Amino acid sequence: MSGREMGFIKEAFDTNWVVPMGPNVNGFEKDLEEFVNRVTPLHSAECSGNSPSGNAESCAKPRELHKAVCCLSAGTAAVHLALLACGVGPGDEVLVQSFTFCASSHPITYLGATPVFIDSERDTWNMDPELLEQAIKDRMDKTGRKPKAIVPVALYGMPYKIDRIMEIADRYGIPVIEDAAEGLGSRYNGQVLGTFGRYGVLSFNGNKMITTSGGGALICDDEDAKKEILFYATQARESYPYYQHEHIGYNYRMSNVCAGIGRGQMTVIDNHIAHHRHVQELYCELLDGVEGITMHRNPAPEFDSNFWLCTATLDPALRIKGEDNAYRQVITGAVGGAAGVTHAAKSATTDCQPNANVEALRVCLDAANVEARPLWKPMHRQPVYSGCPAYTNGVSESLFEVGICLPAGPYVTDDDVRYIVDTIRQSIES
Ligand SMILES: *Cc1c(COP(=O)(O)O)cnc(C)c1O
Repeated sequence: MSGREMGFIKEAFDTNWVVPMGPNVNGFEKDLEEFVNRVTPLHSAECSGNSPSGNAESCAKPRELHKAVCCLSAGTAAVHLALLACGVGPGDEVLVQSFTFCASSHPITYLGATPVFIDSERDTWNMDPELLEQAIKDRMDKTGRKPKAIVPVALYGMPYKIDRIMEIADRYGIPVIEDAAEGLGSRYNGQVLGTFGRYGVLSFNGNKMITTSGGGALICDDEDAKKEILFYATQARESYPYYQHEHIGYNYRMSNVCAGIGRGQMTVIDNHIAHHRHVQELYCELLDGVEGITMHRNPAPEFDSNFWLCTATLDPALRIKGEDNAYRQVITGAVGGAAGVTHAAKSATTDCQPNANVEALRVCLDAANVEARPLWKPMHRQPVYSGCPAYTNGVSESLFEVGICLPAGPYVTDDDVRYIVDTIRQSIES
């Protein structure tokens, strides 16, 4: 943390705003609104006047959106309130990307609804629009009702095929909640993720693109939609001189101290994103000649990932040192030392896990003091969701078997990337 963040936090204490509302929360929301509402033209080079094809339309001035942002205590809270505002309740179904972190789907169950998992396509690793439409039709056939919402996820920051997803969602009249918790600042056709659907989820947890220690936000269509979210985020209080409650609410507003950190972070967000993209470029360049390892990249120019995490896949035939010993030992703590993991693993293996060479590479990197991780295990293969419907094509499961996340944070230097790639090279059996 730097002086920028400290200044805003000190101000919170000095002005006695150490509560879940206040000037920092309002200021952070304003900063976020400016950030998400700025649309950058895709082909800016062609618009400099040098293009012989100088097409006035594609050279339109940068567009402005008019979304409103509501800061909350966590990204998970943002998912929860977005679902609530879409009318999700007991007995409803919500279509959600299976290849994701559990915070995309857990809140569906908080509301007594059922997640229906949708597998991914290979280009972006995100929600497959074909399967989405198939699932909508099949759910309507089987239940006689429309699913209440669609939740695509920008996994590792990569944009989903939002134009196709929005076209399908609009055709069936189902609202889209974009889970852009990992995709803050990622763009599709120059427009920031989270601004296409009815709601967009952001996260400022410690490990995300920017942090407020813990926190999140919901991008809403307008001020009225934001006010409704704010109402539910602050215990659903009606305006009487006493506490009057006509709805059940939550204590989900962001603290003014956390928002102070967020305001400081907003002064460096563009640098953070540029750094992640630079690290991705460097991995691509340095791993280019390494056979059997493939970086996950933007599949086409309209996709502009923030590369929150840089990810790669390993050819199953690639031999990694120590892979014969992979999974021999039951893990006693969480991989990566995540806080809150208190249950010991019941077994060294499960029936859905990364290949031995992926686990062996993770162990080699760990021994060299580099924290790599498997990809997120698809939700439709999680024991807790075994009873939920799923529309699958094998893509997320096969990616989970071969994929690995490489370090990409603001403190990862060019030398670190070189060291990581050297370690990877040395881990390969010659
Ligand atoms: C981190 C994350 C969230 C939730 O954010 P928190 O702020 O940690 O509650 C939601 N969805 C995805 C995909 C995430 O990675």
